[in-house]
Amino acid sequence: MEEENNRTETSIKTSPHRERICKCGCGESFIPKRRDQVYKNSRHANYAYNHGKRKQKTFGQKTAESQLRKNDKILEKYYKLCEKEVVIVFSLNLISDGFDHSFYIGNESKEGFMYSKTYNYLFYEYEKNGRKLTRIIKQKNKIYVKR
Ligand SMILES: [Zn+2]
Repeated sequence: MEEENNRTETSIKTSPHRERICKCGCGESFIPKRRDQVYKNSRHANYAYNHGKRKQKTFGQKTAESQLRKNDKILEKYYKLCEKEVVIVFSLNLISDGFDHSFYIGNESKEGFMYSKTYNYLFYEYEKNGRKLTRIIKQKNKIYVKR
């Protein structure tokens, strides 16, 4: 936890770092105590953690990546749970786990289905008896993702 940075005046004299704008989106400036300090204090850091990613458009790219990773993990969970070549689950189950069908990295046609790709899996959503289902298969050629 970082300390409250209330004594701005003394910080100006002692800190070797330049004043910067807090990254939480509050617009306030502060004198960092450490080179890698990006938030004014722990309160601002917590705020950014809870709200920042959704509020700031500059985080859009990062959010897309994290949703893709999340999608991949959720598909993996169901795929491993069922232990089949082709896994079919109710889309609602995926969604309640945080899956978002609109995030994928490409398409691939297989066995007559136009699948959407995540890093390691392919999914295809369709409707049957008024319920949405998602068909999941594993990708043959894994895409290695650097973290
Ligand atoms: Zn802030």
